[in-house]
Amino acid sequence: MSTGDTPLGRELKDLIAAEGPIPVSRYMALCLGHPRHGYYRAREPFGAAGDFVTAPEISQVFGELIGAFAAATWQAMGQPSPLRLVELGPGRGTLMADLLRAARSMPDFAGALDIHLVETSPRLREHQREALHATGASASWHDDLETVPAGATILVANEFLDALPVRQLVMTERGWRERVVGLDAGGAFAFGLAPDPLPPALVPEPLRQAPAGSVFELCPAFSAIADALAARAAAGPLAALFIDYGHLASAHGETLQAVKAHAFADPLAEPGHADLTAHVDFAAFARTMTTAGLDVAPPLTQRDLLFRLGLAARAEALARANPAAFETIRSGVERLVDPAPAGMGALFKAVLVHSPGLRPVW
Ligand code: SAH
Repeated sequence: MSTGDTPLGRELKDLIAAEGPIPVSRYMALCLGHPRHGYYRAREPFGAAGDFVTAPEISQVFGELIGAFAAATWQAMGQPSPLRLVELGPGRGTLMADLLRAARSMPDFAGALDIHLVETSPRLREHQREALHATGASASWHDDLETVPAGATILVANEFLDALPVRQLVMTERGWRERVVGLDAGGAFAFGLAPDPLPPALVPEPLRQAPAGSVFELCPAFSAIADALAARAAAGPLAALFIDYGHLASAHGETLQAVKAHAFADPLAEPGHADLTAHVDFAAFARTMTTAGLDVAPPLTQRDLLFRLGLAARAEALARANPAAFETIRSGVERLVDPAPAGMGALFKAVLVHSPGLRPVW
């Protein structure tokens, strides 16, 4: 059973006792983003001593290849200057630092860059400042994309979409209803269902009829991202690369998961102390983007993306320059492109959202 006995857990119990059960999406938003106790505000999630490891933290090759992608895309755009280089949710700033190091060999590209980081956690902003300081580059920070100045834009976001809160809709004998987090008779957190039925149109047409108990996850933040990207695309060329774990077709199923110390955990057990994520529904993401007037390139697996961007040559050059680190480099790179179903090369997908007229460079 879940105790939920953390500082945030106690606050959420008071909130639920006063206002009633809250939707899963609000629970997730508070667990991750609560101003004092939210996971990204207060914890150190990354690395061996943290809760999970992301691709840029596994190998510098990842950020360097995204750098090569950005430089080639900038050329395809006609070399605009300034170029707004934007990252959503930069974590420790490792991807951007590796990208900028790769960009040094292309002085015209490096000279055009105007760097903007969208990050809500003040603590992670400090990490990012330090990582960028080491490269000599300067950047501006934003709470959201809307305040990044208009102009030609290349955006990257690795493991950002999975941190956006999802609603969970559950099919019952009387239609779709919202899954909520409430309290059981013993005062512990428990999942439940809101009493009112939801409009069936919230669920994509082919999935609307479903056996009782089916779950459909919906990420409301996709629309705001689509609107912000469409507004940017109206004012200049745009290429936005999203890399994340998830599925290519919308489907029933629940993927909300908690991770702590590299193991799965009960999402209700330690609010604010465990990471909460959901798999990305890339089909829903793409539909939202095309509805906003943007183009979406056919998704690639992370494995295909990295090979197309020149992984083999880059890894070989790196290993040649650091013979003592050969084993570390090899195992890191293999992990990034691991083709097993749950391996990073297959589970992670790359989706490029772009302004009409621009073509992906891979
Ligand atoms: N891209 C990094 C970190 C991924 S973790 C990497 O690959 O290592 C998710 C990141 O998104 C964290 O930096 C977190 O603070 C940030 N984040 C989560 N929700 C956010 C939001 N709504 N707006 C801006 N940043 C957010």
